[in-house]
Amino acid sequence: MRSLWEEAVAATLAPLDQLVYMSRLIGAEPDLVLWGGGNTSIKVWEKDFRGRDTYVLRVKGSGSDMKTIERKHFSGVRMEDVLPLMEREDMSDEEMVAYLSCALMHPSEPRGSIETLLHAFLPAPVVAHSHADAIVALSNNTRGEEAVREALGEDVVRIPYRRPGFLLSKEVGLAVRGRPDAPGLVLMNHGLITWGATCREAYEAHIALTTRAEEYLASRRRGRVVFGAPRVRALAEGERRAVAAQVAPALRGAISVPKRMVLRYEDGPEVLEFVSSEAAPRVSQVGAATPDHILNTKVLPLYVPVDDPGDVAGVIAAVRRSAAEWRAAYEAYYHRYRVDEPMLDPTPRVILVPGLGMWTSGKDAHAALISADIYRHTIRILGDAEAVAAYRSLPEQDAFAAEYWGLELYKLTLAPPEKELARRIVLVTGAASGIGRAIAERFAEEGAHVVVTDLDANACAAVAAGICAKQGAGRAVGLAMDVTDEGAVQAGFAEAVRVFGGLDILVSNAGIAPTGRIEELPLGTWERSLAVNATGHFLVAREAVRVMRAQGLGGSIVFNVTKNVTAPGADFGAYSCAKAAQYQLARILAVENGAFGIRVNMVNPDAVFEAGLWTPELKAERARAKGIPVEQFEEAIRQSNLLRAAVLARDVAEAALFFASDRSAKTTGAFLPVDGGLREAFPR
Ligand code: ZN
Repeated sequence: MRSLWEEAVAATLAPLDQLVYMSRLIGAEPDLVLWGGGNTSIKVWEKDFRGRDTYVLRVKGSGSDMKTIERKHFSGVRMEDVLPLMEREDMSDEEMVAYLSCALMHPSEPRGSIETLLHAFLPAPVVAHSHADAIVALSNNTRGEEAVREALGEDVVRIPYRRPGFLLSKEVGLAVRGRPDAPGLVLMNHGLITWGATCREAYEAHIALTTRAEEYLASRRRGRVVFGAPRVRALAEGERRAVAAQVAPALRGAISVPKRMVLRYEDGPEVLEFVSSEAAPRVSQVGAATPDHILNTKVLPLYVPVDDPGDVAGVIAAVRRSAAEWRAAYEAYYHRYRVDEPMLDPTPRVILVPGLGMWTSGKDAHAALISADIYRHTIRILGDAEAVAAYRSLPEQDAFAAEYWGLELYKLTLAPPEKELARRIVLVTGAASGIGRAIAERFAEEGAHVVVTDLDANACAAVAAGICAKQGAGRAVGLAMDVTDEGAVQAGFAEAVRVFGGLDILVSNAGIAPTGRIEELPLGTWERSLAVNATGHFLVAREAVRVMRAQGLGGSIVFNVTKNVTAPGADFGAYSCAKAAQYQLARILAVENGAFGIRVNMVNPDAVFEAGLWTPELKAERARAKGIPVEQFEEAIRQSNLLRAAVLARDVAEAALFFASDRSAKTTGAFLPVDGGLREAFPR
């Protein structure tokens, strides 16, 4: 590992800014820390609220991420108040948190992490702590003690695994006081601590020890196949992706207990090599690399025993069986150590399928990404550890304590309540503009993950990018899909399933509005309308139903129909007839899929002039058909409905949201007009 320290930059900075600089260097290196892991500190003199000189520990607060950390994320703790704690025998987590909150420089400082006292008890002014992959690999094997000594030398202090908290902090403090010249300290099955008089010293010691560990592991690994021979042949990319798209919905259904999960699929070479290897069934079931990972990966991944990854039915059966076994094993694990806390969701976060790759799961795409990042590093750690000796993790009881640690659970209770469409995956057709776009954006606001489809790939990508900018990275993808092309529709759904793992809601919205009197209507125009306005809905609904049934989680399909079905207009035959077919299709779908919990409903908008199909030509055409001057057309239409209302795309989105959400859980085969009230369109 290379040192990225630039003295020319650092020298100009105040001590606390140097700490920010050092923390960001560490945070930017994924082989050192991932997603909020690790922490750093400095001890400095500051003025307190009465202007008195006070010796203060500035330590990374809970909940911040080192790669983006700022000054304000470091809480200030008065050393004078915390040092006497060294004299205590023990202290519970709750006592420690309560005590530390009284020792803050200011009540508004961020809450300190569980490792605050560890920093305080180390005598050096600057301390850096990470979960460096190489250090963890070195310690997480049956020769760990020896390997740490061989790689890092006798001088490095080694502390056997102990759960982070008061006792570990005190043990570390005492050990280092007795060995002030030690170059660093390895927390077995956990990570690395280094220190120095300056940030540069602490950082360089961190990089130096990590580099020595990396070099040692590389020499052990050279020329060896650490995971043994492949047990299963990985499928070639095309077949692999096709099988993965068929397996994902079944997997998502099997693990979405008690709540739906969003999946992420990865099949990079290192992942494939590992999941397909001889060693994976054993090594993957030993335990987490460091306690910090457990909240995002659970203690164990779900390993699906598969002999022939090309046998889709066989893989799906194995997925369902092993998911049920994983859940039973999780419940047994919980009952072995049960605490006062209720059981957390018995849902695997990492799923390994030989020959196919890895899925990770989370409440949203971001959580699934975190789990994937962590497990990719875990695979590297497993391989490095196995190159030394058999991989070994922290004891199961300690892993349980890490997962059910009260303060982390408390953090979960602070999270805002989930939104109405959280954990749902939605595909919207015709979503690059108008009503489809309004629906995509509205559903995303309610927490949904959205697949934005339309003819133009760039326009879809732009809408998806807008959603991600507002709602968070990974919340939407854009996908070019022509609803009249069977192959394109199938490929689009396969891609949607590859990205998010399944589908809960389809909004079949794409449409065109050709005009013309029947006696003048060219056959091509008629056929084009049928292709988009009828067959297009058939093709996307057919794929959606296939995915939803494979998932077994029910689903909701919303068709954007039109008021023309109940109140047809002259010169609109090609449109109205195709839409009538769509209307009947929705009702048949409702009849056929009710038993699977799949609801199918329709919204019937009228005169939504923001909609993409309202081209200037159409407006002119409809104005002519109704005998109204075109410049008065929109106003005349508005005046013709009972509410005198301009119907907007967002009004249609609200109706679609009602049908998509559980608010209409007992309704299927229905339609809801969004037209300002049209007497001639009343159902009868
Ligand atoms: Zn740690």
